[in-house]
Amino acid sequence: MQYTVPHYYKKFSCTGSACPDTCCAGWQIQIDPGSLKRYRHMKGPVGNRLKNEINWRNRTFRQYGGRCAFLNDENLCDLYLEGGGEKAFCRTCRTYPRHIEEFEGLREISLSLSCPAAAELILLDRTPVRFLHAEDDRPDEEYPDFDFFLFTKLEDARGLMLQILQDRKEPFRARAAAVLALAHDLQQRIDRDALFAADSLLARYSSPGVCRWFSNRLGSLDVSKEERERTAAGLFLILRRLEELRPDWKAYLRDVRRTLKNAVHAGREPQRTFSEVFTDVMAEQLLVYFIFTYFCGAVYSRNAYGKLKFSLASVLLIRELVRAEWIRTDGTVSSGYAVEAACRYAREVEHSDINKCRMEEMLGDEEKFGLEQMFALL
Ligand code: SF4
Repeated sequence: MQYTVPHYYKKFSCTGSACPDTCCAGWQIQIDPGSLKRYRHMKGPVGNRLKNEINWRNRTFRQYGGRCAFLNDENLCDLYLEGGGEKAFCRTCRTYPRHIEEFEGLREISLSLSCPAAAELILLDRTPVRFLHAEDDRPDEEYPDFDFFLFTKLEDARGLMLQILQDRKEPFRARAAAVLALAHDLQQRIDRDALFAADSLLARYSSPGVCRWFSNRLGSLDVSKEERERTAAGLFLILRRLEELRPDWKAYLRDVRRTLKNAVHAGREPQRTFSEVFTDVMAEQLLVYFIFTYFCGAVYSRNAYGKLKFSLASVLLIRELVRAEWIRTDGTVSSGYAVEAACRYAREVEHSDINKCRMEEMLGDEEKFGLEQMFALL
């Protein structure tokens, strides 16, 4: 089996009770069948507590006030403390915040943006992300319908996208436009069963002038301010249509929209520039994160453009969450707020498969979220 991880993966360390949030509240923790069987046979006080605090039908830990039944007042896990350490965890708790994408013969592991400690590594480190590869003797799992040819092309395209995105000589908006257009063009070849033509497409996007070309294209965009506003509002509307995982999320979104709208109307100019608070490097690190994590999953859905749109829309929405706070605080918001906003976003969107699918589906509306409209938001 082969493995790929981002270079900051090994730097992760859980901050435990010092964590500004906790991964044991705000969502249902699903228990895998192996752990469930183990919990059923555990004896003593921990065994008794497990019997009462597991919803055996849903296979989840019970929650009180949105918090896991085993999360104590110090935000520490009683199951860990009283059940003999990490071996007492179920798979979800043992793995989090590691996120695993499985492909035939390859496991890609990232750290989830929803964990504050991981989000700091993802967003606040300026080093361009590198990816490390390893291999062990574990046998590859068989995926009978795995489309290797498509996967190879997706991997090649993603490699080129990351290369374009990390070319810091160019403005972020031109780099982002180039990778979105590349995914769009690749999708056309996937839809026409013309993947044999993918290599010449990748060669075209490898040209040194590609970002300059997109910079000019963005400069000559014919999209009105009202249209741009409509697309931005459309992205927020998508968020509002997703299932809510934390009870304060939709109220927070309403406040954000109100702040953004009022600022547009009042034309207020906060003191510190927004690009100092949410930098191009942060935007790059986020987009690299989303593309690395999700793009190659298109081998299962055949929707490479959808994965890219989901990635870019996520970065743009997180940027707007930060912008609202920047406006609300008259520019005095700290750069650390980007970490908080990214975590909140990830907890709502990334941790629900239903939400990810719905968002990808709604972004598929080319009338509302076509190339030009998305370009206009950059
Ligand atoms: S969210 Fe991250 S840092 Fe916080 S308790 Fe969970 S793993 Fe640790």
